[in-house]
Amino acid sequence: MNKIDSAGHSIHFETQLAPLTDIIKSGKYSKIFVFADGNTSQLCLPLFQELLGDFQAFDLIETDPGEENKNIDFCIGIWKTLLDFEADRKCLMINLGGGVITDMGGFVASTYKRGIDFINIPTTLLAQVDASVGGKTGIDIDNVKNMVGAFTLPQAVFIESGFLKTLPKRELLSGFAEMIKHGLIVDQDYYKMLKKSDYKKISSDAIYRSVEIKNKVVTEDPHEKGIRKILNYGHTIGHAVETYSLIHDKNPLTHGEAIAIGMVCEAYLSSNNNNLSHDELIDISNYILTTYPKYTIKEDSFTDLLAFMKSDKKNENGQIMFSLLSSIGTCSINCSVTENEIKESLSYY
Ligand code: ADP
Ligand code: ZN
Repeated sequence: MNKIDSAGHSIHFETQLAPLTDIIKSGKYSKIFVFADGNTSQLCLPLFQELLGDFQAFDLIETDPGEENKNIDFCIGIWKTLLDFEADRKCLMINLGGGVITDMGGFVASTYKRGIDFINIPTTLLAQVDASVGGKTGIDIDNVKNMVGAFTLPQAVFIESGFLKTLPKRELLSGFAEMIKHGLIVDQDYYKMLKKSDYKKISSDAIYRSVEIKNKVVTEDPHEKGIRKILNYGHTIGHAVETYSLIHDKNPLTHGEAIAIGMVCEAYLSSNNNNLSHDELIDISNYILTTYPKYTIKEDSFTDLLAFMKSDKKNENGQIMFSLLSSIGTCSINCSVTENEIKESLSYY
């Protein structure tokens, strides 16, 4: 259990970065850049350097932490820094950080001089179980997440649970939501196992299982024409709540917290429209509501939330599309739901 082969590259688990040392030693690259944010350069770079031992000949490119910095201005800054360093097309960029760093670093690398190689070392649980797989890169435009980007694959991905030691609990819980989702959409036993576990002590076996599930789905449907859409479970409503919270709340929801809310609402829709049993609906909502902090969705936010759902880039012909469960462990795509039902599901939460 230390490697998953994914479309043309490998995802390495708990290797202490040994294969990366080999890649660097191979002399294939003219220069190595490490891209990190202010937090990961402080908290993750020391372990990175310790694991790489003598092979530390790299230049650090640092950006400010946070989703609000995943934008074109920062990309321009990084492209210019690469130019200043006289980076040619044979250089390698190592993205060391959470989803913001792997999304933006991948985007910058895949467009600099029409593309240089990059390697991802995700350091948040969310990035390890989600962003690390599937080749999506991108940046936000205004409040619209991942508005511009491309499907591009890294040369390799390294998942090391050692990097999670410094991650705040709230960030762990955020990534844990995607793991619960993986169980709900394809693997009832995994869901049951997660229910018995403690998110603060997440095992590397569980991380591996999530990556395996996500990898299987995206390999079957890399460009999200069909089956990959099951990964959007909880995200149609979740993204809308996340966007709303970002605009209105002093302390906005994390991605995972918003998705957890979305999963409860969409479990309700699943029981209404897709034969999810009442018992399973109760099971999912009890589990999520007792695991995640309570959030209030105010009734006067419904109009805004619906507007966000309508502008979702995944919609087709203006129709809001859902991926809904038919049982815990099975998910159907392209389910349509009326606006009234969506409102009911928001009240259900
Ligand atoms: P995501 O949650 O999508 O992975 P971010 O890249 O924004 O997104 O990461 C969330 C926050 O956690 C950021 O503030 C980031 O700097 C910080 N962070 C990332 N990795 C670690 C880590 N291993 N330890 C502590 N903080 C981290
Ligand atoms: Zn997500």
